Amino acid sequence: MSPAPIVDARAIHKHFGHLHVLRGVDLQVAEKELVFLIGPSGSGKSTLLRCLNRLEEPSAGSVTVDGIDMLDPRTDINKARQRIGMVFQSFNLYPHMTALGNVALALRKVQGLPRADAEAKAQAALERVHLADRADHYPAQLSGGQQQRVAIARAIALEPRVMLFDEPTSALDPELVGGVLAVMRELREDGMTMVVVSHEMGFARAAADRVVFMADGLIVETGPPGEIFANPQHERTRAFISQIE
Ligand code: ADP
Ligand code: MG
Repeated sequence: MSPAPIVDARAIHKHFGHLHVLRGVDLQVAEKELVFLIGPSGSGKSTLLRCLNRLEEPSAGSVTVDGIDMLDPRTDINKARQRIGMVFQSFNLYPHMTALGNVALALRKVQGLPRADAEAKAQAALERVHLADRADHYPAQLSGGQQQRVAIARAIALEPRVMLFDEPTSALDPELVGGVLAVMRELREDGMTMVVVSHEMGFARAAADRVVFMADGLIVETGPPGEIFANPQHERTRAFISQIE
C-alpha cells in the first residue's frame, strides 16, 4: 500500500458569484513528489493552489494536508498553514527590513521564536538559497531573482511539509529565472513535496514527477512530463502545448 498523500484534495468546486471556476478537481500529491500544474490563463490554477491552504474557501469538496482536514471548522487554520509554504509571483518582502529580517520576522511571528534563535534559523535558510552573503541587504539592493530566493527562504525556514509555487519566475527578467529554478531543484532533491504552477517547461521536463494539465476548472490530463509533452492524449492538451513550446 502506498503511503497517504501529503496533499489530498477531492471534488473541489469553487464559485465566485456566478463564475464556476473549479468544477470538481481531484489532486493527490505524494510525499517528495513534484507536481507541475499547467493550463491556459483563467483555467483555475491559482484558485486551486489557494484552496489547498484555504486562502480561498472551496465551495465544495475536501482538502487534507499532511493528515489535517483543512476545511474542518475545528482545525486551527493558522497552525495548519504552517505546514504549507507558499511562494507567489510577487515576492512581498518588507522593504524596510533586510533579507535576514524578513525571514526572521516570519519565524518570530509564526513560531514565536526569540530574536536570536529566529535569526540563526533565518541565516541557515538564506544559506539554502545561496544568499548567506546578502543577509544584511534590503530588498531594493537585491535583484528580483534574489528577492524571490529570500521569499523562498522565508517559506522554507518554517519547515513546511509542502511548498506551493504560483508562477515564481513570471515577474523576473529572463537572466534571473535560472537561479530561482536551481534553488527549486535543490529543494526537490532535498525531498520537499512541491506543487508548482509555471510556464518553465524545461524545468518541468527536468524536475517534475508529474504534469497536470487544467482547463476550464477541470483536470484534463495528467502524466509524467515525457508523456504529456511528447504524446498528449487530449486535443485540448495538444493545443496548449503546441502554443507554449
Ligand atoms: P489561473 O491561475 O489558471 O490563470 P485563476 O485561478 O487565477 O486562473 O482564475 C480562474 C478564474 O477565476 C478566472 O476567470 C478569474 O478571473 C476568476 N477569479 C479568480 N479569483 C477571483 C476572485 N477573487 N473573484 C472573482 N473571480 C476570480
Ligand atoms: Mg494564476
